[in-house]
Amino acid sequence: MTATLEPTQTDREAAQRAYDLDRKHVFHSWSAQDTLDPMVISAAEGSHLWDGEGNKYLDFSSQLVNTNIGHQHPAVVAAIAAQAAKLCTIAPSYVNDARSEAARLIAERTPGELDRIFFTNGGADANEHAVRMARLHTGRHKVLSAYRSYHGGTHLAVNITGDPRRWASDNGSAGTIHFFPPYLYRTAFHSTTEEEEAQRALEHLEQLIEFEGPSSMAAIMLESIPGTAGIYVPPAGYMQGVRELCTKYGIVFIADEVMAGFGRTGKWFAVEHFDVVPDLLTFAKGVNSGYVPLGGVAISPEIAATFGTRAYPGGLTYSGHPLATAAAVATINAMEREGMVQHAASLGTDVIGPALAGFAERHQSVGEVRGRGVFWAIELVKDRATREPLAPYGSSSTEMNQLVAACKSRGLIPFANFNRIHVVPPCNISVEDALTGLAILDEVLDIADTYA
Ligand code: PLP
Repeated sequence: MTATLEPTQTDREAAQRAYDLDRKHVFHSWSAQDTLDPMVISAAEGSHLWDGEGNKYLDFSSQLVNTNIGHQHPAVVAAIAAQAAKLCTIAPSYVNDARSEAARLIAERTPGELDRIFFTNGGADANEHAVRMARLHTGRHKVLSAYRSYHGGTHLAVNITGDPRRWASDNGSAGTIHFFPPYLYRTAFHSTTEEEEAQRALEHLEQLIEFEGPSSMAAIMLESIPGTAGIYVPPAGYMQGVRELCTKYGIVFIADEVMAGFGRTGKWFAVEHFDVVPDLLTFAKGVNSGYVPLGGVAISPEIAATFGTRAYPGGLTYSGHPLATAAAVATINAMEREGMVQHAASLGTDVIGPALAGFAERHQSVGEVRGRGVFWAIELVKDRATREPLAPYGSSSTEMNQLVAACKSRGLIPFANFNRIHVVPPCNISVEDALTGLAILDEVLDIADTYA
């Protein structure tokens, strides 16, 4: 595909018609409908997108951090087409080869013995089902989750979510309780070292369990490395500590790997960085690079056994949909064959990590950088001494909007949230493209410095 696609008059008219119909009929997520000006995308390939005018962009967002193998991977496109020609859909109660094979490939990559897979349509419903399994398994109802987390937009998942996306829909769903996760840069515990932060965050969590009542506590849900809430890599010992608390009190440990899973952090699953095996692991997004909606829950033998002779009361018409699972099989095989997980790891250690460390040294607007693999956040501040964020907690700011526009005008699609720009390209982005995107961010941070 060429750098610029020169659209014909017909292409331009089609793009305009799509835009007009969208503005008239499509109701967009998380947005005020009348002030939106969404971009028309006319083509996509690998790490690049083209707009309706034929302009080329480097996708440093992987869309919603899901196109882990980039756009239009030929093996996945072919697998979806082949599956569509063979069998488009079949109810979950039947055996289907794509579903069986996807379950095997996922089970073989999850840590420990999480080798039973319940398929869902995406991440939020995976988390809803994980909580239901935990509640039925323990006979308890409360769920603990972190502030600075996102677990999905459906009823329970948004109540469990800790970040401000919960606020507007929070109905105080019974038994959803939040705790402060470790985050040394803005510590809730007055810690001065990562070690202290891990230890105090664990003490806080244990106190919460004791005061809420361990006998009512079904699950702790944690993103292994929290994503849209800010990409906070937990300090050494924290995840092991959570595992120990769960074991001590008989609480189900649910690791939400919807965003961090499938290679993004340079391992198949982010929990592997901490040598921890959860009881339930939820996934979506990267499992098939988002080509067809798919999510799921990987289940421990103990929890699976709860539903050995007793029926699991839950299901979805499209659970393990053939098109989605065929895409998962092709995605996982392509990631393996092309060494994408290792590539993501080395991009993190050799390219993105060092570049972001350089930004933190050179740019006074950069408060902190953090991440692993192709999963990084640049936290922007107005004042390094006070750490005042460039956008208030829970919202955007004119300055942040200007930075996003500056990225786009330079041909880069960034992922921005509150006062952060996340560096989350596909796992298989080339080193050359990664460096191009980082050079654009470096330029844009010069603008951010003028606000600091
Ligand atoms: N969990 C995490 C960590 C996520 O990042 C997301 C989505 O961004 C979800 C759950 C919800 O997934 P979905 O949008 O597929 O329902």
